[in-house]
Amino acid sequence: MGDCIFCKIVKKEAPATVEFENDNLIAFRNINPIAPVHVLIVPKKHIAKLSEISEEDQSLMGEVLLIAKNIAKKLGISEAFRVALANGENAGQSVFHLHFHLTGGWKEKYTREEDRG
Ligand code: 5GP
Ligand code: ZN
Repeated sequence: MGDCIFCKIVKKEAPATVEFENDNLIAFRNINPIAPVHVLIVPKKHIAKLSEISEEDQSLMGEVLLIAKNIAKKLGISEAFRVALANGENAGQSVFHLHFHLTGGWKEKYTREEDRG
């Protein structure tokens, strides 16, 4: 975890535009957004990917969705947003610290072609 970029953001050793933080989670703007609003919701605990969670992470996973809803409201995208997650390299995961993509802010109806997140 020493060289994990998201652990570094959690520890404030790397910069990020933070939109929300509590004891369990941090949410910050994606450095390379694929939508007008693109936030990453990241459990502070280093879990490499969803397939590695266990029973003890159950409430943490629920908290992610509650916080996603709250951040969507705060950022004015409550009416239309997506929450996405990639598990594993072949699914498109590139950072191996569990994170959820919250995207939104499209002016017209979302089409899959414009957002592979
Ligand atoms: P994945 O491809 O693993 O589902 O998503 C990783 C995301 O993290 C990518 O969309 C990428 O743009 C974002 N990302 C990678 N490094 C950084 C960083 O240092 N800061 C921020 N804010 N986002 C990052
Ligand atoms: Zn990490």
